[in-house]
Amino acid sequence: MPAPASITAAPVTRRAALTGIGGAIGATILASCAGPRGLAPAPAPLALPIDPTADLAPDLVDLARFDPRFRFDIRYATQANFMGRVLYPLPRAVAQRPVAEALSRVQTRAEAQGYGLLIFDAYRPWRITRMMWEETPPEKREFVADPRTGSRHNRGCSIDVTLHRGGTEVVMPSPYDDFTPAAYRSNIAAPAQALELSRMLEAWMVAEGFVPLANEWWHYDWAEWRRYPIMDVPLEAVTAR
Ligand SMILES: [Zn+2]
Repeated sequence: MPAPASITAAPVTRRAALTGIGGAIGATILASCAGPRGLAPAPAPLALPIDPTADLAPDLVDLARFDPRFRFDIRYATQANFMGRVLYPLPRAVAQRPVAEALSRVQTRAEAQGYGLLIFDAYRPWRITRMMWEETPPEKREFVADPRTGSRHNRGCSIDVTLHRGGTEVVMPSPYDDFTPAAYRSNIAAPAQALELSRMLEAWMVAEGFVPLANEWWHYDWAEWRRYPIMDVPLEAVTAR
């Protein structure tokens, strides 16, 4: 333990501690800065992660304008979501241009079979991902992205989507954002028709370049998501064309 006398003898400034003056007190300060392993843990504010592999500039498009055939139920702009409160100030879906183009092709495939796409979520500002993480109990965090690495939604490369038929949402293996194993693609306990619809959507999405997420039947990532940066532009401030 540091001698209390050293505190009263001379105030230890942060600079003094970092340059070694103050001995053990300096070590304590450094440890607490380092995070949970410190003697006096204090959560460090999370910063927007920068992915050095992202080599493409964002080119976000507004999905409603891009393809008027899409339908939307932007749950995070309502209270009908797992957080139980409004997270988005407006019901808006934006995504990177190649993602929107691929989604249009999926819409065409769906229409040929009498269905259409119903989109729950697309680009999500990083600050919302951080809020979801901080407010989700640890045992449920497999369903929310760690803000230290960011979500693929933060890159404008993920789409949460289901199908509708004549404007009526189809029944899928679980409700959207159902944070239980019922949402897993490996869930075979769901009604046969729900499984069939989920697999049909999956086949169309995969055919157009999306990668399905194993534990959420509604979530798809654009195959080239790593090439886009993690973004924190608020939804209302996105200048999407
Ligand atoms: Zn998602």
